[in-house]
Amino acid sequence: MEIDFSKNNNGLVPAIVQDANTKLVLMLGYMNEEAYNETKRSRRVTFFSRSRNKLWTKGEESGHFLDLVEISTDCDSDTLLVMANPSGPVCHRGTDSCWGKSNEGTLVFLDTLEAVIEARMHGKNTENSYVSSLFSEGINKMAQKVGEEAVEVVIAAKDDDKVEFLNESADLLFHFLVLLRAKGCDLKNVVDVLSERQK
Ligand code: AMP
Ligand code: ZN
Ligand code: ZN
Ligand code: ZN
Repeated sequence: MEIDFSKNNNGLVPAIVQDANTKLVLMLGYMNEEAYNETKRSRRVTFFSRSRNKLWTKGEESGHFLDLVEISTDCDSDTLLVMANPSGPVCHRGTDSCWGKSNEGTLVFLDTLEAVIEARMHGKNTENSYVSSLFSEGINKMAQKVGEEAVEVVIAAKDDDKVEFLNESADLLFHFLVLLRAKGCDLKNVVDVLSERQK
């Protein structure tokens, strides 16, 4: 369905921005027809700023652009849903979303864990650190740990001890994160591959 700019005040329609990967609702802005066309042309989400009374490409100052994935129109053609990939925190307060903190959502703890792994890789707080010892032992050791933990998950899956199964799953995920980091990748790269396949 095509958006109808004549339905709302001053030809502005609300545009809800959602993270194309995490589905987190990021922000709300307003688009006029020009902003809408510019968004589609440049593939960077562009609003009409009511306070500045001009087109506003989100990220033009902060560098935190919203790379367009898809725009859709709601049931009665008066509201837009913009799927985008943010290149940084969307809110001017520095949070991922304009609603709430960046450390929200169940999987965001993995970001924190990745940050800790990253710090250990760069030699921060390495004393008595298991992660540091893995990094000093090298890629083969880390890959081997992933294999071992995967086997332990397989074994734990055979019986009904859910606690054991979750513990082994946690071990596997943790060692997998370490291996990803050592290979110069992160979980986001893997999720991107998965979401590409979904298309
Ligand atoms: P930016 O577009 O990220 O370069 O930010 C430019 C200016 O737009 C900021 O200084 C804020 O005044 C405003 N701004 C940025 N992000 C938001 C947002 N998510 N919601 C409302 N205003 C914003
Ligand atoms: Zn509507
Ligand atoms: Zn905000
Ligand atoms: Zn284990």
